[in-house]
Amino acid sequence: MEPHEKIYNECVELMEIATLANDVFIDNAIKGSVKGMADELYEVYSKAKGLRIKGSEEKFRADTIQYNNELITAKKIVEARAPYYSEFIYTKDDDHWVHVAFDKNNYKPASFRLYLNIKIFKFAYFIRNFWVKITNYISCPCGGKAKYESYEKKVICKTCKKDDFYFAFKFHVPLPKTETYRGAMSELLRHDKIVMYFPDEESAKAMARTLKEYQNLFEPKTMPLTGEIFPGLGFAIEPTAEEKEEYIAATGDEQVSFGAYISRLMGELIIKAVQNKRVQVELTYKNWKAKYPERMGKTDAERYKERTILYNHIYPLIADNLRALIAGEVRFKRYFDELAELERLAA
Ligand SMILES: [Zn+2]
Repeated sequence: MEPHEKIYNECVELMEIATLANDVFIDNAIKGSVKGMADELYEVYSKAKGLRIKGSEEKFRADTIQYNNELITAKKIVEARAPYYSEFIYTKDDDHWVHVAFDKNNYKPASFRLYLNIKIFKFAYFIRNFWVKITNYISCPCGGKAKYESYEKKVICKTCKKDDFYFAFKFHVPLPKTETYRGAMSELLRHDKIVMYFPDEESAKAMARTLKEYQNLFEPKTMPLTGEIFPGLGFAIEPTAEEKEEYIAATGDEQVSFGAYISRLMGELIIKAVQNKRVQVELTYKNWKAKYPERMGKTDAERYKERTILYNHIYPLIADNLRALIAGEVRFKRYFDELAELERLAA
């Protein structure tokens, strides 16, 4: 699939979920509120909101509890093993994530990320096996194998002698068992159950190749708007310094994550697409509101059905515009090139 077509499809999916989730999404699009759109899209993008909206509530509840139990086990595994590699590996938890970093004396800023959507029931199993793997066998970019050498307290490639491997990953801190069901749990079902960070593309690709051996432990759904190495494993590049500057100037928000950046860009493009059909979109929205007013006593299921009708009327008005805007967006150019490169890697 053409990279811009993939992004267009994912953008449509996010937009659909955002429209079904509440009444303000289309309203923000008509008003031209970039911030409102970006916040809503980011929420859908990062918290797998669609799983709640489109799936069954019972399954969602069971999954969150199961997943939390897996996280409890995974955290224990990491905490029990890290001390054996204390010169090389460190763990800490803060801001709801368990962070694991390798070669703590050699910190490098992350430029590349992998997003792992590990199956809920296999999460602790993955962490246990992956841990053994990374301490015993890393695929070096040279094609050789690298291993943790306890006397050197380093991972060293047997073939090329590279000894500056660096990467980090994080996964969610489990919730106390008494809190395993509440709204915030939707975060736990994100498509990025593990996020890995790399300073260079070669390291990221070497890890991607290593992870191919675990493909059967991945959910087939990849984090949206990332490059897909295989179903469930997404790849992203950090925004450039210029892109970050532009984002900070526009939002005042110093925390520029890949997700926040791309959500804002999507929001801008959807607003443009709506503006191009402003009269029809406004009329359609007005008619819908008159026919299906918000009232006390409506169930979520009723409102969901009504918003589906709204989506089905609005979307065809803007689809062609949106597709053309995404294909022509210069800020996506670098991103498209990267995705094409990834397709070659995955092949
Ligand atoms: Zn090597």
